[in-house]
Amino acid sequence: MVTFLSGGTGTPKLLAGADAVFDPGDTTVVANTGDDVELGGLLVCPDLDTVLFLGGDELDEETWWGIDGDTSETHDELRLLSVESGFPVEPRYLPDDRQTAGRRLANWRRFSAVGEFMHIGDRDRAVHLYRSSLLDEGRSLSDVTARLCAGFDVPWTVLPMSDDPVATIVHTEDGPMHFQEFWIGHDGEPAIESVEFRGAVDASPADSVRDALTDPVVVGPSNPITSIGPMLALDGVRDALADTPVVVVSPFVEDEVFSGPAGELMQAEGYDPSTAGVAEAYPFADAFVLDTHDDTDLDRPVVRTDTRMDDDEDAARVANAVAEALEGG
Ligand code: GDP
Repeated sequence: MVTFLSGGTGTPKLLAGADAVFDPGDTTVVANTGDDVELGGLLVCPDLDTVLFLGGDELDEETWWGIDGDTSETHDELRLLSVESGFPVEPRYLPDDRQTAGRRLANWRRFSAVGEFMHIGDRDRAVHLYRSSLLDEGRSLSDVTARLCAGFDVPWTVLPMSDDPVATIVHTEDGPMHFQEFWIGHDGEPAIESVEFRGAVDASPADSVRDALTDPVVVGPSNPITSIGPMLALDGVRDALADTPVVVVSPFVEDEVFSGPAGELMQAEGYDPSTAGVAEAYPFADAFVLDTHDDTDLDRPVVRTDTRMDDDEDAARVANAVAEALEGG
């Protein structure tokens, strides 16, 4: 048995070729939900959905989000209606008093669909509608995710990190904003001051997550702050990771990130934006997989391979290095 911790890009890339090394039937994937938003009343879970669509062989692997070949008629119409009726295309929060009204899971990240700022495909939207309806029937996100996995024929067990609301809020020079507003609405441009996981002190990992964290854990190449940080902020997760073998694949080659805002976010949170900073952020890690061009000297065992993953073959190579590190770690 093995458990992968996942954001929306790095770990899914690894999972895409991991089945040759890790039997999907013995694999659990715990996905970050701090990035989730409610958009036009529908709960969108970007990291869970990437894992869901990947497992169902439907993912758009150019972008690592959305369904391959999906149409966007509803999205296009929403934008057209907005612009023609005088509303710009931009993130539009519901009023403050609505942020904690309605569906509890969506607390602090409730947006209008006017000027829809995230691209949501038509089939993709059906998933959000289906999810939100099951939540409104009173089911937990864990239960709903299991149903969606059955619907997409996903080979792994996929778990949301929590059934409680946790919202990743980036405090910037332009004020606080949800991660999706920062990253999609503002292209990650405002200078970051700090990151808050709103709700985390009152949130727990689901029992299934606690169980999964008793197995060996793989932290795929992920943004340590906004993809893994929300999980580490949940009660008991750090302790659980300290008690089980953990292998981390670096999302950096020394101080070069493959993609995304991990460097800026780490710097804002006081870590060196590099593999060394990742190691510092993960004191519970027992071993690391680093790129062959990454000479970072770490105080824990290291397995080196080419960690760039452009296809399933690359992913299988990195998965083999992870298995080697788990044996030695
Ligand atoms: P998000 O949820 O989309 O923000 O993404 P994740 O946190 O899941 O993954 C983002 C991280 O994946 C970034 O820090 C990248 O550097 C890293 N990454 C992306 N592609 C690769 C790759 O091919 N190899 C490695 N090692 N890391 C990658």
